[in-house]
Amino acid sequence: MVKVRIAPSPTGDPHVGTAYSALFNWVFARRNNGSFILRIEDTDRTRSTPESEQAIIDSLRWLGLDWDEGPIKGGPSGPYRQSERLEIYGKHVDLLLEKGQAYRCFCTSERLSEMRAKQKAAKQDFGYDGLCRGLDPDEARKMAEAGKPHVVRLRVDKASSTSFDDLLRGRVTFENKTVDDQILMKSDGFPTYHLANVVDDHLMGVTHVIRAEEWISSTPKHIMLYDAFGWDYPVFIHLSLLRNKNGSKISKRKNPVSLLYYKEKGYLPEALLNFLALMGWSTSDEEEFFDLERMVAEMDHGDIHVGGPVFDLDKLDWLNGVHIRSLAPDELADRLLDGFMGGYRRDRDYLLKVIPLIRERINTLSEFVDKAGFFYKNTELQPDSFKKVKLPPGETARLVRSAIPVIESRGLDEAESLENELREQAKACGVKVGQLFMAVRVAVTGKTATPPLIDSMIVLGLEKSLDRMRQAAAYLEGLEQGS
Ligand code: GLU
Repeated sequence: MVKVRIAPSPTGDPHVGTAYSALFNWVFARRNNGSFILRIEDTDRTRSTPESEQAIIDSLRWLGLDWDEGPIKGGPSGPYRQSERLEIYGKHVDLLLEKGQAYRCFCTSERLSEMRAKQKAAKQDFGYDGLCRGLDPDEARKMAEAGKPHVVRLRVDKASSTSFDDLLRGRVTFENKTVDDQILMKSDGFPTYHLANVVDDHLMGVTHVIRAEEWISSTPKHIMLYDAFGWDYPVFIHLSLLRNKNGSKISKRKNPVSLLYYKEKGYLPEALLNFLALMGWSTSDEEEFFDLERMVAEMDHGDIHVGGPVFDLDKLDWLNGVHIRSLAPDELADRLLDGFMGGYRRDRDYLLKVIPLIRERINTLSEFVDKAGFFYKNTELQPDSFKKVKLPPGETARLVRSAIPVIESRGLDEAESLENELREQAKACGVKVGQLFMAVRVAVTGKTATPPLIDSMIVLGLEKSLDRMRQAAAYLEGLEQGS
């Protein structure tokens, strides 16, 4: 049975890279009727927090990437939180010590800092110099039992090399002399990432490790651990890192990387997943808009691209807009009502009238408040609100006033006739049609760019529209007098 996992560390905000790996893992599990595991790698005691774990869980739920085994759900290989598996790691470290594949190291942090300083001065690569490698294991055990602080390190055979196959990149080889005698167990009895990760992947039956490229350099250490334990390797698939336009790894400084940001900004989870999928995969017909179902149906993991995908937020905006417009109005109303209405009244029927006029104009849900604001509140006019009418305030006021009886008598039921009459009115006033429409548009909406004017007035209602026109005319008259 295919088993995949994501193994996020609960430090800080949930990262967009976690969603990226989660997506490719989830799709792989679903395509192969396999199991998708969520494992919380919280062995860094100083940085891991329960809040961060909760945020990971909430984000995966928001994205709709449900896990088959993991926290809350449980499963056959639990617990799924590494801090609850310390005994397991302890036993495995003992096994490696017995076999001589690992050794205890008693070097103090002062000694290690000195060693690093020397390596730096000599322009050597950093790495443990092996002082404790030669300690007699029995002696070392006794020292440990006597309570002497120590770590346990992997005994790397520096003379040989380590290779593994990556499904996308082929054979990858590292010279062992470049691989450090990795700490496997810290002095506080907590395992490091490498040990816990390999032990858990094995014990949880993980068949395919699909993770970001940044872990490639850790993989030889993992291979050595699999060998040391005498275990089979999983298949490795290292996904390309998400990059900024200049090729650097995406980072907080250049791009928002927290999933919370995308949620709060009103990106749709399905759009974010579509966007992340495009970072590593394309459909056979190069169609850029697709859903999870299509990914499950068509994504062959051997076809994942390894070129550096550019994390282009303009593209995400565009794609999010396409997803917004593909939602049924009722569905879009649900999404807006779920946190994107600002302080506006939560009247679903009214919202359903507004949606057809606004959906073409927003790329994120959070833009609704600004773009649809005039449907909910009277926008405050400013002296330059009517600038585009290109007439002094007094004349603009007269234009607005002259349109009031036209709209009042014709009503809003026959948009075309009303439009013709307003055109006539513009002629009668000796202004361009555009000027009159702009004056009425700003009077009614406070904005110069809006959905079609008459359609907007229909949604607002005749009385409210006329009322706003009267108020605007009065405001302009006030400006005229003031000037
Ligand atoms: N804990 C690692 C992380 O934070 C897991 C990497 C892996 O998938 O092996 O991403």
